[in-house]
Amino acid sequence: IALNLLQLLSLRMRHSNAELGDAFQLQQELQLVAETDALTGLHNRRWMEQMFPRVMRRNRHEPNALSLLMIDIDHFKRVNDSYGHVEGDQVLRHTASLIRSMLRPGDLCARYGGEEFCALLPDVDQTQAMHIAERLREALASTSFTLGSGATLSVEVSIGMVQWDKQDSLSQLQQQADQALYVAKQNGRNRVVSFNATPDHGRR
Ligand code: GH3
Ligand code: MG
Ligand code: MG
Repeated sequence: IALNLLQLLSLRMRHSNAELGDAFQLQQELQLVAETDALTGLHNRRWMEQMFPRVMRRNRHEPNALSLLMIDIDHFKRVNDSYGHVEGDQVLRHTASLIRSMLRPGDLCARYGGEEFCALLPDVDQTQAMHIAERLREALASTSFTLGSGATLSVEVSIGMVQWDKQDSLSQLQQQADQALYVAKQNGRNRVVSFNATPDHGRR
């Protein structure tokens, strides 16, 4: 009887272990879906708002710099208007994959909104971030690709860039990058502007 009971118990335990494993895997998969942008496969804004502050907290007392890029496709509405939404989606996927391929594995990158992307670059100061952003802008502008309809085009982006002043929160950092992005748009698009170079810098 004791042996039978033991066997029964071990069977039950194995069963509940398997159930726990399944539940854990399901939870992992759900989390992955919740943090991934379905169109581009990049991380989404929700992930970004959890991960960026974590990296910032870890970096706050380190000497290493940290910079943020806010990347916005120029005149993207025209792409949709000219080629339709399906082709527009293809342009977004192309842009996302080129951005990801140009960044280092340790860089954090997300689709922030419709045609806007955000990248947090550890160990990168303002001068280096300017080079990285410029290389990215240039790569996008010079890489043409063919849409499903056969049309060939390349993507121009404006980029706002800022080196993190470690007093600031993520939302302050985003506002600064956004301000620089706004100036890039005002100055004719297809360019990178650093927050330091914006006329309102200092007025916070
Ligand atoms: P600007 O140079 O000032 O950034 O102009 P813009 O046309 O890029 O910016 P605007 O904000 O006027 O338009 C963005 C467009 O992006 C409008 C919206 O329909 C489109 N969009 C947003 N999300 C998606 C998407 O997932 N797929 C497609 N195809 N279009 C999208
Ligand atoms: Mg936009
Ligand atoms: Mg745009």
